Amino acid sequence: TTILAIESSCDETSASVCVNGKILSNYIANQSVHEKYGGVVPELASRAHMQNIVPVVDTALAAAFPELNNTTDRLKQLDAIAFTQSPGLIGSLLVGTQFAKSLALTLNKPLIAVHHMQAHVLANLIGDDIPEFPFLCLTVSGGHTQIVLAHDPLNLEVIGETIDDAAGEAFDKSAKLLGLPYPGGPLIDKYAKTGDPLKFKFAEPQIPELNFSFSGLKTSVLYFLQKQETGFIEANLADLCASIQHTIITILLKKVKKAVQQTGIKQVCIAGGVSANSGLRASLQEMGQKHGWKTFIPKFEYCTDNAAMIAITAHYKYQAAQFASLDANPSARSH
Ligand code: ATP
Ligand code: MG
Ligand code: FE
Repeated sequence: TTILAIESSCDETSASVCVNGKILSNYIANQSVHEKYGGVVPELASRAHMQNIVPVVDTALAAAFPELNNTTDRLKQLDAIAFTQSPGLIGSLLVGTQFAKSLALTLNKPLIAVHHMQAHVLANLIGDDIPEFPFLCLTVSGGHTQIVLAHDPLNLEVIGETIDDAAGEAFDKSAKLLGLPYPGGPLIDKYAKTGDPLKFKFAEPQIPELNFSFSGLKTSVLYFLQKQETGFIEANLADLCASIQHTIITILLKKVKKAVQQTGIKQVCIAGGVSANSGLRASLQEMGQKHGWKTFIPKFEYCTDNAAMIAITAHYKYQAAQFASLDANPSARSH
């Protein structure tokens, strides 16, 4: 079974081809227009998706079928078209949805609607060294922070989540306070590498169960910086980044440990944009070794938004004959 998948939920336009669950191509176009605004501007994202979608799909098809020399022949290989239906920016989702529907109609092939957060989790099923069910997944992205109990590919249970900001927001908002450009997460990661993670102490919230809170961290960083003299940030950037990153990782992994204790499940995955963080990746592996867990970490290109994760999810939905109708609509919300 050959599936073309399209992801357009936020500010990445991406297309991927998979054959029987094996990823043949995964092409991602990032949108640079948002940089100067310090965040994603929905209307600009939508317009950029419209400009990008045809070349992105063309590129993914060409990379998947190098032996075929035109788009028509490549499209004939497809058995289904998948797209991200929710959650995300509605104008962005609409571009991918309409494109996928048009293609499914033209090729007379089934359409598969994919949930973006389910796809982040199932990114862990790409490749050879993959977890067995059931497993736990810490999903940490720009809009979500969840602990998921994966019973099977199509049955994911959220057993903990943030009550306010997402982990990605904690990175990005802290970075902004340090004067770093958006998105600041990858820059905190970079500067943290040469810093002391124990140099500065920031508030760790006490939240019940398997839930998280990150809004207090941002406030704690803000108040701390307000007390310092000018030039402090520049002089201490690496230590500040390392300490903020260490606090976020500690908050996350404490709850992961609690989830393992509660469920008895010792296979632990991470997913979402923040799972690209080198400190989190290293700490999870270290913790896994210490406690005898088996840990799984997606390749970098499958952490942040990408269509390969949509394709692998669609692969399982195809096997279960979970198809969408041609009047399927996208939704900004998570339901
Ligand atoms: P969602 O998946 O919740 O709808 P999203 O799709 O916008 O949100 P992703 O693309 O999965 O989110 O992740 C983007 C987030 O990941 C941003 O907050 C970004 O700062 C963060 N991020 C990316 N790389 C790193 C890194 N190396 N260290 C820390 N954070 C990172
Ligand atoms: Mg993004
Ligand atoms: Fe995402």
